[in-house]
Amino acid sequence: MRKKSDKTMPQTSLQQKIAPATLVAVSKTQPCEKIRALYNTGICHFGENYLQEALPKMQALTDLPIIWHYIGAIQRNKTTDIACFDWVQSIDRAIIATRLNSAAATLDKKLQVLVQVNIDDEPQKAGVAVDEVGALFAHIAKLPNLALRGIMIIPQKNSQDAFVRAKALFDTYAPLYNLDTLSMGMSADYTQALMHGATMVRIGTALFGVRNV
Ligand SMILES: *Cc1c(COP(=O)(O)O)cnc(C)c1O
Repeated sequence: MRKKSDKTMPQTSLQQKIAPATLVAVSKTQPCEKIRALYNTGICHFGENYLQEALPKMQALTDLPIIWHYIGAIQRNKTTDIACFDWVQSIDRAIIATRLNSAAATLDKKLQVLVQVNIDDEPQKAGVAVDEVGALFAHIAKLPNLALRGIMIIPQKNSQDAFVRAKALFDTYAPLYNLDTLSMGMSADYTQALMHGATMVRIGTALFGVRNV
């Protein structure tokens, strides 16, 4: 049976390539009841982009041991509040890392952090330039209240090989800093991301349905 279908199958099947990955449910614009319902199906990582929206929701859900990920843009005067999250995936400059480290120290906690990389070198896009990743990693590695875990990317639409380049970048630095997290893949492209080595996917629409906002 297998032989016969080999010709039309991709060279390696999904099952062979995909390692277990962490699912982060992106709950921006979603009400607490929906988050609670999804939590009850077994999902415990949730991601939020907007601080003003996220903080009250986190407050209302403190009875659940949710692991909260901040995945939005970071203003430097908001780092104290952002340090309330468990993970911050969107660090893209040294000053933000420094400030998050101080805030985490005040809270007596260690923040799990990813560096957001502007993988397609888009002018308006958040993220550190690929050739500045090494310097930012070196800076973060010295901050005691940040645990450097890896890289997060949001590729350009129709980006050809962003996942391949992100994986290569990740593999370059993983042994140096003990990185274990490559966060890439959203509702539209998570299968591709997983095939290219994502260890964490961030999914909103495919879990919650289309956002109204
Ligand atoms: C909104 C968002 C997602 C999820 O997008 P969907 O297409 O709804 O799955 C993932 N990552 C980031 C950074 C986002 O802002």
